Amino acid sequence: MSLQFYNTLKKEKESFEPLSLREVTFYSCGPTVYNYPHIGNYRAYIFADILKRVLFYEGYNVNHIMNLTDVDDKTILNSRKEGKSLKEFTEFYTEEFLKDIKKFNILNPTKFTKATDYIDYMVDIIKKLMDKGLAYKSDDGSIYFNIRKFKNYGRLSHLVIENQKENASGRIVADEYEKDNVQDFALWKAWDPKDGDVFWDTILGKGRPGWHIECSAMSMANLGEQIDIHSGGVDNIFPHHENEIAQSEGVTGKQFVKYWMHNEWVLMDQKKMAKSAGTFIILNDLINKGINPLSYRLWLLMANYRTRVNFTWEVLEGAETALKRLYRGFLDLGDEVGTVNAEYQNKFKAFIEDDLDTPQALALVWDLLKDEEISNSDKRATLLDFDKIFGLSLENLKEEIIPGEIMKLVKERERARKNKDFKLSDELRDKIISLGYQIKDTEGGQKINKI
Ligand SMILES: [Zn+2]
Repeated sequence: MSLQFYNTLKKEKESFEPLSLREVTFYSCGPTVYNYPHIGNYRAYIFADILKRVLFYEGYNVNHIMNLTDVDDKTILNSRKEGKSLKEFTEFYTEEFLKDIKKFNILNPTKFTKATDYIDYMVDIIKKLMDKGLAYKSDDGSIYFNIRKFKNYGRLSHLVIENQKENASGRIVADEYEKDNVQDFALWKAWDPKDGDVFWDTILGKGRPGWHIECSAMSMANLGEQIDIHSGGVDNIFPHHENEIAQSEGVTGKQFVKYWMHNEWVLMDQKKMAKSAGTFIILNDLINKGINPLSYRLWLLMANYRTRVNFTWEVLEGAETALKRLYRGFLDLGDEVGTVNAEYQNKFKAFIEDDLDTPQALALVWDLLKDEEISNSDKRATLLDFDKIFGLSLENLKEEIIPGEIMKLVKERERARKNKDFKLSDELRDKIISLGYQIKDTEGGQKINKI
């Protein structure tokens, strides 16, 4: 089977055929650095990471760009609220983001791009759109994209054209809006006193870019006019990605993206995560509860990326238990690395190539661990191979060092068992458990690990 991806544009799975065999060009929408992303936002970055690992696994080179939105409505509003310069404010959240993605074992993109480094490029695109009659300046000096002049508008989000015509009168200046509010959107926002000292003096006038033009500019500047894959959360389909298509294709006359891929939401209490509802959970909340961030990654792998998932602390704890069980099982295989088992690898590839079917691929891990026909060293090699995609950090896993105090109790228990003093042996086991360690009697002797 060949690699198949679900393309939002076509609403179906398609064989992946990159524009060039030399490398895959991939743009994924990154964070707006105005706050800590909640764990629902992280699904998009973990999804992009898994997608990229699949491409690597399939032997492709990948040129991956992820943007950092460091100027938009939210960054300006919040930096001003905190009395900080836009740069100081966004740099803080950028640094935090870069630290956090490491904890989720997300590989760095080829390049992170900051929107403020590409203002000239954005101005250039907007100027060209105006020259082509696709954009116009309004009375207030802001520049809007004229959606009626772009015949493919609505193609990605599958908007009904009739509705579009009815509602598409007027203009929208905000970066974010809903589908029923489809209107001409802002490419360039004329300076407003609310923007304070955030503005650029350009041939378009004094102002700042709209959010959507930023991604068009950063993608085209780094990856060219046409790219293979663009990813993001489903909430980016409209208006963000729809507008990116209008801007990019409006200026080049070429198809901007071949494969649009979107991950579904993480819900909490069946609703979107939101600060106001008290369902805004960030990575630090997990760490403060002693939960390994990779448990969250594992939990996401248990569902297809196109399925909505409902977060609860209970399901996350379930994933944490599964992660510990996997780590234990992996460590018990010993240090020797054998050969990747071809039969398991073929099954694994078939699942992964079928639009990233990670739940089925994960189920293979448990089958493999139980399989008595396969040697421990081959199991170890096969799991390490799978983990190139899962990214659960198996290669860095080491047998934990058990403190001397615990080892003393373990030795005493061994003596008690030799002397058939099972009462003492049980007492010692309870004591070891109460100190946070688990003890298992195996053929090779007692096995101890942290609970
Ligand atoms: Zn974007």
